[in-house]
Amino acid sequence: MKRCLFLILLLLLGASSLWAQKVCVGLFFDLPVKALTFTAVKTDYTIVAQDTLIVAIVSKGESLQIVSNGAALHVSGGVGNYKEIQAFASNLTGAFSVRPTRPAAEARAYAQNVVFRAKKGNIFIINKVDEDFYLSGVCEAEAGCTAPPDYFKVQSIMSRTYLYAHFDRHAGDGFNLCDGVHCQAYKGLQTRCTRAQRAVAATDGVLVADKDKMPIAPTYSANCGGQTCNSEDVWKNKLPYLRSTKDNYCFHQHGSNWTKRIPLAAWRSYMNSNGLYARSNSDFNFDQSSRKRYYTIGKNKIQLTKIRQQFGLRSAFFSVRVEGNNVVLTGRGYGHGVGVCQEGAMQMAERGISFKKILQYYYKNTTLLDFDDLQPSQEMLVNEHSNIFNPWINRLSLAISDSTLLSSEMDSLYIEALLPLTFPTP
Ligand SMILES: [Zn+2]
Ligand SMILES: [Zn+2]
Repeated sequence: MKRCLFLILLLLLGASSLWAQKVCVGLFFDLPVKALTFTAVKTDYTIVAQDTLIVAIVSKGESLQIVSNGAALHVSGGVGNYKEIQAFASNLTGAFSVRPTRPAAEARAYAQNVVFRAKKGNIFIINKVDEDFYLSGVCEAEAGCTAPPDYFKVQSIMSRTYLYAHFDRHAGDGFNLCDGVHCQAYKGLQTRCTRAQRAVAATDGVLVADKDKMPIAPTYSANCGGQTCNSEDVWKNKLPYLRSTKDNYCFHQHGSNWTKRIPLAAWRSYMNSNGLYARSNSDFNFDQSSRKRYYTIGKNKIQLTKIRQQFGLRSAFFSVRVEGNNVVLTGRGYGHGVGVCQEGAMQMAERGISFKKILQYYYKNTTLLDFDDLQPSQEMLVNEHSNIFNPWINRLSLAISDSTLLSSEMDSLYIEALLPLTFPTP
């Protein structure tokens, strides 16, 4: 009887998740976690294995140790060995923490539900969380908590656009996005930045779209140094909305200027290895008062982004002069410089410029659209991994359930696809 009650409770929890978009985020993705401590921080957690089997209840404040033993996870307290377990909060305000113990890392707190899965000798940790919680966490991880409110709207829309444009980036891993810089930084609840939360709510469903009504690649970097880059100067693709533009707002900010001295011998040797030879030291001098793509000596050239990578420079926007046995690089900006300049956008917001104008300043010829006005490609709609979060299918099912047609055959198909668990008839 008790088990039946739990199953009904879980079914209700599953059903309630239909009313909010869920995101599956791979946590501590840059760390090969082999052991961890899970703690129920707010509310109790129900631990479920093999999709439906309740194997433990973790009360608020209590912990479980989870260790990978290769093909399976060993769960402490006599719970057992399983390939995968899921932890469900007893209500939607639930929060838990994860502290990797091998290798050791600081604990982080997250909202709502989590899956632990044995994968290649490590533990995959997947946070199943409402989209708004996720986006607030991304905004805080990417922008701190002190920027002006309109800047947070800019950051929310960029982060939401990224999520929707890349929701299948880690489909092969069984989740949507990772929490590292490979996708978008996400460190969970942190300080619960209310500015970020308000901005996410105020821009609900808004994305940046190109002329074909497709979500754009919403790139951004800390400081462009006064001029953003064309996308093809940094990456392969020439994108019509990522065009170089002057930015008068990001001067005198944290990331606007830098210098670096590099031994002349090291510089010469690197240039020689790339086919660039100087007849005299002054041939190494190079002026970049506005952005260029290549560093040149005579007719030979090397892409500036390659030099940036080689010498670990803050940006590829630098001039060069030889001083004695060194080259002195005088640089501007911090990051790749393509798309939104975060420090420039913050200054614009500080001066009362609206988030819409800021986004359209950095992303040329784009529009802000509501999710429902976008035109997803066939590829996005028919996704082989649509059993995990697919926003288009998810939104469609929301529209259907909103129109109270829950009993139709079509609805039950969609709902089945979306439920985090499958339930046998009790
Ligand atoms: Zn990623
Ligand atoms: Zn800038």
